[in-house]
Formats: sequence, C-alpha cells, structure tokens
Amino acid sequence: MDITAENTVAHTAGEADGEPAERVDVVVVGAGVAGLAAARLLAARGRRVVVLEARDRIGGRTCTDRTDGRITDLGASWIHGVDDSPVAAAAAAFGMATREFTVGSYQPDSRPIAYYAPDDRRLSDADARRFTDDVHTADAALADAIAAAPAGSSYDDAAETALATLGWDGERTERVREFLRHRSEEQYGVHSTRLDAHGLDDDAVDGDEVVFPDGYDRLAAHLADDLDVRLQHVVTEVRWHASGVRVTGDRGTLAGAQAVVTVPVGVLAAGDLTIDPPLPEPVAGALSRLEMNDFEKVFLRFDERFWEPDVYAIRRQGPGAHWWHSWYDLTDLHGTPTLLTFAAGPAAIAIRDWEPERVGDAVLAELRRLYGDAVPAPTHVQVTAWRADPFARGSYAFMTVGARPADHDLLATPVGGVLHLAGEATWTDDPATVTAALRSGHRAAENVLGADVPIDELWTTRA
Ligand SMILES: Cc1cc2nc3c(=O)[nH]c(=O)nc-3n(C[C@H](O)[C@H](O)[C@H](O)COP(=O)(O)OP(=O)(O)OC[C@H]3O[C@@H](n4cnc5c(N)ncnc54)[C@H](O)[C@@H]3O)c2cc1C
Repeated sequence: MDITAENTVAHTAGEADGEPAERVDVVVVGAGVAGLAAARLLAARGRRVVVLEARDRIGGRTCTDRTDGRITDLGASWIHGVDDSPVAAAAAAFGMATREFTVGSYQPDSRPIAYYAPDDRRLSDADARRFTDDVHTADAALADAIAAAPAGSSYDDAAETALATLGWDGERTERVREFLRHRSEEQYGVHSTRLDAHGLDDDAVDGDEVVFPDGYDRLAAHLADDLDVRLQHVVTEVRWHASGVRVTGDRGTLAGAQAVVTVPVGVLAAGDLTIDPPLPEPVAGALSRLEMNDFEKVFLRFDERFWEPDVYAIRRQGPGAHWWHSWYDLTDLHGTPTLLTFAAGPAAIAIRDWEPERVGDAVLAELRRLYGDAVPAPTHVQVTAWRADPFARGSYAFMTVGARPADHDLLATPVGGVLHLAGEATWTDDPATVTAALRSGHRAAENVLGADVPIDELWTTRA
C-alpha cells in the first residue's frame, strides 16, 4: 500500500460506456474499518479488489494521533462491550493490548464515578446511590414510554412521558431529566429533541468496555495487510448498471463487477460523491432519515493530577453543567494525568469556530468550580474537528425524528445487484460503532459473493 504514481488508477482497456478504465472484480470506496473488512474477506476469496481512499491514511474514523509520543485516539476509543464482539476477537487475534474502562456508554454507575451536585459539592456515596437508583427507575419507565411512543416522537418526548409517570418533585425530576438529555448528547451527539425516541434502542452494553492503550488504528492496519489500498484517491462518482460499476475520482476511473461504498452518510448527503442513477428506494428514504451528528473530543493533559484517585469519571449536575458535565480519567491508559470530555450536540455546534485554547479555558473554568485553585494550567489541550472534516462530516450518524431502527439495515439493501453500501450507519443492531462498521463490511462481502463467510476469516485468513 503506498501513494506513489504507480498506484494511481491506470487507464487501460476500452469501456463501452465512457473513459477507458482499469478493470477489477470489486471496487471498495473508503479504507475505514467497513471497507477494509469487506476488501479483506473478498481478497481472501480470490477476488481482485482495489480500495480507494480519499485521505493519506487508512482507518477513517479510527484515528490515533502519536504526536510527541502521546497516544491519542481522536475517533473511536471503546469497544462498547466485549461479549460476543467480533472487534474484541479481531483485536485479540491481532495481539492488540486492551484496558478495561467500562464508562464509555454514559452509564450512571457500575464503576466509580465522582458526582458533584448543582452547588458544586461532591455527593456522598448515599446521595449518589439515590440518584443512580432514580436513573434506573426512570430508565424502566422510559423503556415503556419508548415502546408506546407514537411515530414521530423524539427521545425527549419519551423521556418527558416517562418522568411524568413517576410523580417525583421538581428537583428530583430535573436531575434525571438532565441526565437523559446528556445521554442523548454523549451517546449520539445530538439534542434529545432531535433524536428519534428509538434512537438509543441499541444502547445495551454486553460485558466490559475496553480501550486501546496502543491506539485503535492498529485494527485498520492489521485489516489492510496485503490489500491493494490506494490513498489520496477522492472518489466523486459511482455509476452503476446491470453489468457492473464505474468508480471515478480525481485520479481516474476503475471499472468493476461490483462496488462496496463505505463513505459516511454525511458524504453521500452532501453530494460530494454522487451515485448515478440515484439511489433507489428503500435506500434513498433510509438515507434521508439518518444524519451526521456534532460530537467532538476535548483532551486536557496536566503535569499533576488534581482529581480523586480511583474514579473512572467525574460528573457534574445542575444547570451550570449544561455543556461540560462529564470528564473521563485517561491517566492509567498512558501514565500522563489526562481528562477527556466531549463537546456534544449543542455544545459542539457552538464551539465549531473556537480555537482549542478557548475551548480549554471554558472547560477549565467549570473544573475550577469543583476543584478550585488545585486545577493547574494544562500542558496540552486537543480538540477534534470531525464535523469540519470533508471525509467524515460529523462523527457518526443518528436517527432523526421519524427514522426507524431498521433504516440502518435498509441502507445496505443491494442496489441493482452490483452496488453495496456499508459502514457504521448501515447496521441496525449496534450502529455508530466500530463493531457496526466491521459487521457491515462482512455483510457486504457476503452479498458480493452471494455466499456465507465466517466473520472470523477476517483474522484467521490472509488477504
Ligand atoms: C469522536 C468519535 C468517537 C467515537 N467513539 C467510538 C467508540 O468509542 N466506539 C466505537 O465503537 N465507535 C466510536 N466511534 C464511531 C466509529 O469510529 C465509527 O463508527 C467507525 O470507525 C466507522 O467506520 P466506517 O468504516 O463505517 O467509516 P469511516 O471510518 O469513516 O470510513 C470511511 C472512509 O471513507 C473515506 N472517504 C470519505 N469520502 C471519500 C471519497 N469521496 N472518496 C474516497 N474515500 C472517501 C474516509 O476518508 C474514510 O476513511 C467514534 C467516532 C468518532 C468520530
């Protein structure tokens, strides 16, 4: 895999419907986890596969920054539950180290969390327990409210319905209401009024959550081993017809019997990559109901730790904690005192044009309410910008109000028997994750081959 001129798309044999094009069996667009998984399985079954990738790197939204020896996962960090996870199985087979960190799915409890009340005082263990018990009670009512919600209800609508059944006083209700809103923002990067009532249906975590001390990008590197991946090839058009596809980009055209397109739904919606003829139903309708979110990571590194030892996270309650309310302790991961927080939903929209220093100052001001002068100046502040990234256009897709969970799988309906969409947004069971990307790539490969393929061929077979 390289980016030399030899690896640009060659113009060779003549083609009936346009420019001469290099011919392959399958063209895969996008070298994220979905595209690499599909390509790996297809290559292992003897198909000639070329992966075209716009960026100068593989991995897509799994992206590890190693500047100055710091290892920072700018995109995905967690496997949200290792039980029966093919990502966990692949990581183990590839020898990737993992670290347990079961706090990545906005759990209220199960691991130590330092809770701070609206008046900025630390909640006692008993008060924290009362609050988290309330969250569990509300969640049970919420599950009923979601099941009964009329089509077109938002997560916020369902939350209000659930809270109204509980008969709690204003303060008690408000603490749980804000928790549910923050969950929508942290899990899906969108305000709960814009997320469909079913938008968090997939939220269950099976088993421990883990992160990767050496970086999530190793997964893509292993998947890409021995594949023909062509970097810095921006695909602008995919034409499909009964007998095949033509994939055109800034470096020429490839012709294939089939194509697997794994670009984020935001790239498709923006029209940066056109599909001709346009996507038919049910794919087009499903695409129109899924949208990219606003979700950015903010990393703060310090010389010294000022927060409690042995806590997975710090959570602040109350109206003052509207934007900055949760901090995750990454210290054990890399040895440097580090907190991760998220700009999610409205906060991410508001800070889009802010310099990292301004974001850092805003976050520190809130931390100083809790820890006072003990909070030193950070040695390093890093803020991601996935929304502004033309090859992502957001962090992952959410279900707009009116979308159905099945819209994810509908996106992957084979088009004309030759065109297959894959990627995190195309997997209903656990969308918006690396697991979804991997599984969707596996499904695309099976659809191309018209045959079942064990998913473990991803890590047991050479490409
Ligand atoms: C901040 C953040 C935090 C996250 N946290 C987690 C987490 O903790 N756990 C988890 O499981 N998931 C998490 N995710 C989601 C996870 O990263 C994604 O679901 C997954 O990586 C998506 O993989 P994919 O292959 O579907 O898409 P991508 O990784 O986006 O791959 C698509 C590829 O297509 C390329 N491309 C785009 N346009 C073109 C074009 N025109 N021509 C050619 N190539 C193109 C892109 O450059 C990209 O490489 C997070 C994501 C972000 C951004």
